[in-house]
Amino acid sequence: MIPANFDYESPRTLSEALELLASREDAKILAGGHSLLPAMKLRLAQPALLVDIGRIGGLSYVRESGEHIRIGAMTTHAEIASSKVLQRFSPLLPQAACQIGDMQVRNCGTIGGSLAQAHPAADYPAVVLALDAEIVVASRTGEREIPAREFFTGMFSTELHPHEIITEIRVPRTDDQGIAYKKHHHPASGYAVVGVAVRLKLSVGKIDTVAIGITGVGQNAYRATAVENALRGKPVAAIREATAHVAKNVEVLSDNYASSDYRQHLAAVLTRRALEQAAGGRAK
Ligand SMILES: Cc1cc2nc3c(=O)[nH]c(=O)nc-3n(C[C@H](O)[C@H](O)[C@H](O)COP(=O)(O)OP(=O)(O)OC[C@H]3O[C@@H](n4cnc5c(N)ncnc54)[C@H](O)[C@@H]3O)c2cc1C
Repeated sequence: MIPANFDYESPRTLSEALELLASREDAKILAGGHSLLPAMKLRLAQPALLVDIGRIGGLSYVRESGEHIRIGAMTTHAEIASSKVLQRFSPLLPQAACQIGDMQVRNCGTIGGSLAQAHPAADYPAVVLALDAEIVVASRTGEREIPAREFFTGMFSTELHPHEIITEIRVPRTDDQGIAYKKHHHPASGYAVVGVAVRLKLSVGKIDTVAIGITGVGQNAYRATAVENALRGKPVAAIREATAHVAKNVEVLSDNYASSDYRQHLAAVLTRRALEQAAGGRAK
């Protein structure tokens, strides 16, 4: 449980951090440290240089900005859970954030760190997918925006290049009527055995807009497009049948706690519950 030797730098600006990151092949960003440090103690990660971005000003915020809500990458889970701006304009994020780990994890862990880590059972990936968010990343050569739907590429793997830093998450403002995040917590780790993020809008009793993000089920979080397609334009009574497609084309994970059959069952049940809650109970 002792990490390998490493160098440590604590830059005060983003450009300094980007220079440091590019200076060594095996440099890594340190944010809240709640995924990276345990991995280093187990020697699953052995970076030669840690670039701590915790002292860079201006990376922790939640702001309204035109058509978007902008969230700084260093914003902690606790700050997201208690953000008045998010509770008003994008309550799905606080609803998920307050279910992450325990208070210590929520006080240190950051949204940027969680998305970069891309743990297959992390909560935010399902939420940013359902929200059609964009992940803003910076490198020495400039900035780019990656749609959440293109960001997660596999287990612990993303579109992020080694010398890029996530700086911001942009969430479009929507006029959804209902949202819900449902999670089956792993009893030991607190991670999502299955987590389901839903946003929904009804029009004249029919489902007009529906977005469903799923975590914990496959190698990486995904949009349950087969369920979305089965629901668009249909009455809420169609929910139960549609959720049977929740793991369509997904290789469902299996471990000591949850077999793939159980996981798939959980995913269908939690998706139905999330959709029913988002629909205001009208499916019953
Ligand atoms: C006991 C425990 C329980 C937990 N339970 C849950 C849970 O229920 N749900 C859940 O979703 N998570 C859970 N977590 C994980 C927690 O949310 C982590 O804090 C999070 O996954 C990583 O965020 P961090 O800021 O700590 O990142 P770090 O650990 O500092 O970094 C993680 C990885 O991301 C990279 N990175 C960090 N920030 C950036 C950035 N801005 N740009 C580019 N790369 C970056 C790092 O180099 C590293 O590879 C748990 C963790 C613990 C220890």
